[in-house]
Amino acid sequence: MQHPSRPTEPRQEIVDLAAGLVPALAARAAGYDEADAFCHEDFDEMVAAGYTAITVPAELGGMGAGALDLVAAQSRLAEGNPATALAVNMHLHGVGLLAEGFRDRVEPFLKQVATEGAILAGGFSEPQSGGNWWYQASTATPLPGGGYRLSGTKTFFTGWPRATHLFLSAAVETEDGREPIGFLVPRPERGVRVLGDWKAMGMRATGSHALAIDDLEIPPECVVAVGFPVAVSFLVGSHWSWPSFASIFLGAAEAAFRHVADGLPKRRNEGLGQSLAELPGVQQAVGEMRMRLDAARATLLAAVARPPDPDPVAHYGRMAGAKLFTCQTALEVCTMALRTAGGSGYLRTGPLERLLRDANAGLLLPPSHDATLQWLGRVELGTAGAPGGPR
Ligand SMILES: Cc1cc2nc3c(=O)[nH]c(=O)nc-3n(C[C@H](O)[C@H](O)[C@H](O)COP(=O)(O)OP(=O)(O)OC[C@H]3O[C@@H](n4cnc5c(N)ncnc54)[C@H](O)[C@@H]3O)c2cc1C
Repeated sequence: MQHPSRPTEPRQEIVDLAAGLVPALAARAAGYDEADAFCHEDFDEMVAAGYTAITVPAELGGMGAGALDLVAAQSRLAEGNPATALAVNMHLHGVGLLAEGFRDRVEPFLKQVATEGAILAGGFSEPQSGGNWWYQASTATPLPGGGYRLSGTKTFFTGWPRATHLFLSAAVETEDGREPIGFLVPRPERGVRVLGDWKAMGMRATGSHALAIDDLEIPPECVVAVGFPVAVSFLVGSHWSWPSFASIFLGAAEAAFRHVADGLPKRRNEGLGQSLAELPGVQQAVGEMRMRLDAARATLLAAVARPPDPDPVAHYGRMAGAKLFTCQTALEVCTMALRTAGGSGYLRTGPLERLLRDANAGLLLPPSHDATLQWLGRVELGTAGAPGGPR
């Protein structure tokens, strides 16, 4: 996988495209959350606006967004609805990663994203291994005429209700032992079953159902890569995944902050004879939230803008560290926003309780808090890089 030199500022036209979608997303967010409904109308608008093609290379009809553009645009989009932003992120970052690392294998699909509104969803998490994606319990069995038969269970399959294509991983027995294999498959009519509808604390509009893959026959042209290239793509392509995940939660926290910073000056406490914005505690909390958000944004953008570390293990660690710091900060800011708004922020008439529920998902998305810190520690101690993954 090649890393072209990276710009240091996100492209404004891509961020502006996201910003234009925000008001409509924000208006629908509470309704989706209330009904545990997938954000179909949001997807209609994102496809129509060309937003779902931002990470497709420009010469194939997209906007050629890099990872930095993606992070900046997605944090802006998430200010409208973090759940919609997470659902489309599984598509956008997957498209960017595939275009950068496996373009020769996936070019027809990339064109479909730009011209037909094709949408990708990725299934790597499994009940047996959680977010430790280098281990796959799902099996791919070679078929006599070529291709594979895939069986297994995939959990948290974000964007399934809208997906036209599936990015799937499994393990295949080769001469070298059990190896990972990656597939890009048009949504099949048979062989994939929803095991349980998505009912969750937050991120309710993401349609992250659990799926059973039952003897799904996959033709050879749908194989993206086998063995080492699959494993290494998760490391060298991690500037697409972990920072873009984090950008969603940064956007959620910005929305919570804005709600408080815009709303409290309009509220007056007659018992105190003051506007809430005049209270020193409120002023200090708003200042602290701003400081933390600015620090998280700077950390995240700097991480994704810097040239990748030539050591893929160190590169992965830096991306994971930036994601963890951002997601932790976002959760803290959402918690502070609720506390600063007071009891009325707890009501479902406003966005704060939803944003706080959504923000909790940041620390649950991979890599986990423990895995990230242990990985970073091992890199610094010189004990990382054992074959087989970040154990
Ligand atoms: C809103 C949402 C959407 C998601 N969407 C997708 C999706 O589209 N596709 C997809 O494939 N997955 C998705 N995921 C799933 C996610 O990737 C994780 O796999 C999932 O959270 C795993 O949960 P788990 O309970 O199995 O265990 P885990 O979250 O893996 O972990 C359980 C515990 O073990 C610890 N732990 C786990 N691994 C390690 C390690 N290597 N080192 C140290 N400690 C470790 C954790 O810190 C934690 O304490 C999504 C998750 C969420 C919350």
